[in-house]
Amino acid sequence: MPKLAKTKVNKFRKRLLQVLEELGGKLEHMEESILKGDGEISPDEVDEFGSDAYSTEFQIGLLENEEEIRRETLEALQRCDAGTYGVCERCEKLIPERRLEVLPWARYCVACQKAVEEGEE
Ligand SMILES: [Zn+2]
Repeated sequence: MPKLAKTKVNKFRKRLLQVLEELGGKLEHMEESILKGDGEISPDEVDEFGSDAYSTEFQIGLLENEEEIRRETLEALQRCDAGTYGVCERCEKLIPERRLEVLPWARYCVACQKAVEEGEE
């Protein structure tokens, strides 16, 4: 199985930790505003979501997505430790670095991601 150079793994590990940190702060903040209900929306939040799009339902949808990213990010960090980070879990080839730049938690290369999404195993 190929391996991503350690210096590169370290670079992406830093990025993953950064993503986690950003998500952590954001999730906490969002959960709080969902719990509060529809009152007390700060101008910042209206700007971020757009006043028309603002609804609890919309936020929960967003939250699930971010929760998923957080989970993927955590798993990617485990792969950094296991030494399998940056290797496609399906075809076991290196995932192109420019893909990792965009999706540091990616577990598949583009072709395999597509195949998995289409339900081909
Ligand atoms: Zn692949």
